[in-house]
Amino acid sequence: MRILRSVALIDRAGSFDLVLEGERVRDISAAADAAAPRWLAMPSLVNLHAHANRAYAAPARRPSSLGDAVASAKRERASATTEDIRARASKLLRRSIEHGVSSVRTHTDIDVVTGMRAIDGVLAAASEVTSALDVEIVAFASAAADPSHPETRALFSEAVGRGASLIGAVPALCAHPARALDALLDTAMALDVPVDVHLDEHLDAPGALIHRLVEATEARGLQGRVTVSHACVLSALPCADVRRLLDRMAAAGIVLVVLPELNLYLQARGDGAPRVRGLAPVIEALKSGVPVRFGTDNVRDWFFPFGDGDMLETGFVGALASQVDAAEELGALICGGRRRIEVGDLADLLLVPASCFDDALARRPAGRVLLRRGEEVGAAARGAMAAVSGQAGLVDAAD
Ligand SMILES: [Zn+2]
Repeated sequence: MRILRSVALIDRAGSFDLVLEGERVRDISAAADAAAPRWLAMPSLVNLHAHANRAYAAPARRPSSLGDAVASAKRERASATTEDIRARASKLLRRSIEHGVSSVRTHTDIDVVTGMRAIDGVLAAASEVTSALDVEIVAFASAAADPSHPETRALFSEAVGRGASLIGAVPALCAHPARALDALLDTAMALDVPVDVHLDEHLDAPGALIHRLVEATEARGLQGRVTVSHACVLSALPCADVRRLLDRMAAAGIVLVVLPELNLYLQARGDGAPRVRGLAPVIEALKSGVPVRFGTDNVRDWFFPFGDGDMLETGFVGALASQVDAAEELGALICGGRRRIEVGDLADLLLVPASCFDDALARRPAGRVLLRRGEEVGAAARGAMAAVSGQAGLVDAAD
């Protein structure tokens, strides 16, 4: 049994002692020592949308638009080796752990040029960190692969055979977007895997495919098996239309992943100052009961020159962009839907050297400690725990 003493929590003011037993949280009570907390305990962070195989490729120039970034990424794909990709992915996954992320879903390129190199590179990187991080791989038919083509379906099948657990695509970049979307869903059914699709990453209302996604999900009985990433166009559709769509998405269990940094950076880019935020409406989506999550999306690549895989940073930017800033609601967006730590939870927790959630968001300090199933992971985390234990008695061991 271990006790985390005098910690702050997301969902209530004060100072608390958390008792961990084995893999789980056994008790939460008012702290025996009433000193102001110096550590925040919160659910571990979850990044539901990354591109680890491209991370830290750090190109020299900024993209002029989303289309320009897509073209740059396409040019680069032919030259990246499996080892290049493993090294990039490994850096992102290790940085994620240092930030306190316990799960990353990463969209991993497949196309006839890349073949399985990206899948193999990310699988190799993921195998290095299995005790600390859950890595979900989406076999991602990017700009160079159309899901309605037989060769792309073969690539999906091969990637799933190697360990990808979802499939995804960007229908808007295909010759017939609606056909590509239907083909993606049909392939998911055939392979018996869920879907995470980059959809409507634009603000052009007539070009929206979100209605079709909802209908196609219902028609195929894929409720609970579909995630839509981006859906920026929801912010450009009439309000009544959006409400109806969101209600249907909630009923169909469609998860909405919003990417605050990328949407702010790339939407309405290239023609003077942007007039819109470019994000799907998170407040309305939550109100309708749609499960909403945030993700970092690209980190230091052709699409986005900044970022470090830190979901606290994404939470901070997302709070500004979406205006969802109530602690529990915002916490759920960056912690895989967990709003608070509850008795009985698996002890997948994050300790941040901060006095409260707002302090953690404001400063995003280093020296965080990630716990998986009650055990701290990573050498740096063990050092931090030992130092803190010696100085302030954050952690006590008891039998
Ligand atoms: Zn993406």
